[in-house]
Amino acid sequence: MPLETDVAFRFDNSYARELTGFYAPWQPAQVPQPAMVKLNRALATELGLDAEALDSPEGADIFAGNRVPDGAQPLAQAYAGHQFGGFSPQLGDGRALLLGEVIDVHGRRRDIALKGSGRTPFSRGGDGKAALGPVLREYLMGEAMHALGIPTTRALAAVTTGEKVRRDGAPPGAVLARVAASHIRVGTFQFFAAQGEELQLKKLADYVIARHDPEAAHAANPYLALFQAVCERQAQLVTQWMLAGFIHGVMNTDNMALSGETIDYGPCAFMDPYDPATVFSSIDHQGRYAYGNQPAIARWNLARLAETLLPLVHADSDQAVALVTEVLDLFPDRYQQHWLDGMRRKLGLASAQQDDLVLAQGFLATLQDQAVDYTQAFRGLADLVDAPGGPEADALRARFSDTSALDTWLARWQARQGQDAMPAAQRAQAMRQVNPVYIPRNHRVEEALAAAVERGDYAPFERLLAVLSRPFYAQAGSAAYAEPAPAATQQGYRTFCGT
Ligand code: AMP
Ligand code: MG
Repeated sequence: MPLETDVAFRFDNSYARELTGFYAPWQPAQVPQPAMVKLNRALATELGLDAEALDSPEGADIFAGNRVPDGAQPLAQAYAGHQFGGFSPQLGDGRALLLGEVIDVHGRRRDIALKGSGRTPFSRGGDGKAALGPVLREYLMGEAMHALGIPTTRALAAVTTGEKVRRDGAPPGAVLARVAASHIRVGTFQFFAAQGEELQLKKLADYVIARHDPEAAHAANPYLALFQAVCERQAQLVTQWMLAGFIHGVMNTDNMALSGETIDYGPCAFMDPYDPATVFSSIDHQGRYAYGNQPAIARWNLARLAETLLPLVHADSDQAVALVTEVLDLFPDRYQQHWLDGMRRKLGLASAQQDDLVLAQGFLATLQDQAVDYTQAFRGLADLVDAPGGPEADALRARFSDTSALDTWLARWQARQGQDAMPAAQRAQAMRQVNPVYIPRNHRVEEALAAAVERGDYAPFERLLAVLSRPFYAQAGSAAYAEPAPAATQQGYRTFCGT
């Protein structure tokens, strides 16, 4: 078989075809020495690609941008965005290119894009490049989120380019090949709204409806139905972040995808001790994107989306405002409902009872008061259900400095369990399916990135990735991956944007 057909992508590029004027056709930069760091073979196969053929120098050439595969139409997407509350009318893909779309083996349309593939017309002062550390970070975090069952863009491949990039310490340059349900952001709508381009907005909204919300086309008011669907997806997404202890870190409107996937892993991190004020990002001085603020920020971002949709929703602007406001005002309740449902699952409760919210909040308050690790505390509860006298249950108790507060809460929780009778083993098993053992612990992530960047040693990265890809199963020999860093090293832990 000729080489070309081995790595054939069956592209079907609806964005390039239907949305002329929404992007700049552009070519990736040539780089000196592409090398494959990691190919996500399972994902490649899911995309209908030949993983074997792609895990090769030829695949490295493609994902580094040196060779554009047949059928790709590389383009930089235009978008705007509110960054930390301030509006930038022109952002766009400054270092990313959409190569094209494929239909995966499940029939879903997926974008394949490169991140770090060189300057574009949207680069402003930037170099268009990505450093190896942030590329591996996005790979790890995204795949961990996927394994946790949280909607997310995925990492298809990470390659190094053979050049150093102009960052602190001149780290190796890299490119991430990213897969997404689409890369359309709240900021994409804002770009055209800011220019008063109503026809373009309508074209974009119609495209999103066709791609993500085909049933909205049949609604009495399709654009309002679209907005409703996007709000619902965000309510569910942020619920999942909150239940997992995930902090996105840079919830600008250009980093919120209409598909409802988590996108743009920059300074994101998982919380260790439960504290709603947790912030890791070095640039989030005000705590705007703190853990506990995420639902409110999601709503704020959705309000910005709503503003762009007003002319499509109703010709009369007052009526349009009334219609979108009604939808937006449902967001806090929708979020709260999803969150409470999720908390019930985490606590092993099968039915819905009046006091469940107070019960859940009581546990969180105890965790916060005693700075107990969020992930381990929930996982440990399952041990109290099916092995109350065992070593794991003891280990959970040992995490609390004041066990009397814990015992008071446990008594309430145990009484509540009586309201939906279920064998202990079954309850504990259900809890273990939603309370992970492993999350990407900050010190583990840093350790994996440092080994790769400083020593070219990918073993810690591979090991961590393997552990994180099965987060709900206690894996022999991996207990240390479940542990938070010693408190001293976590003090003042800071993450940095992937620029
Ligand atoms: P981010 O913080 O990664 O979501 O990026 C925000 C904006 O800055 C987007 O428009 C990016 O394309 C752009 N950007 C980030 N890093 C670079 C870079 N190194 N070169 C050019 N543009 C960049
Ligand atoms: Mg971004």
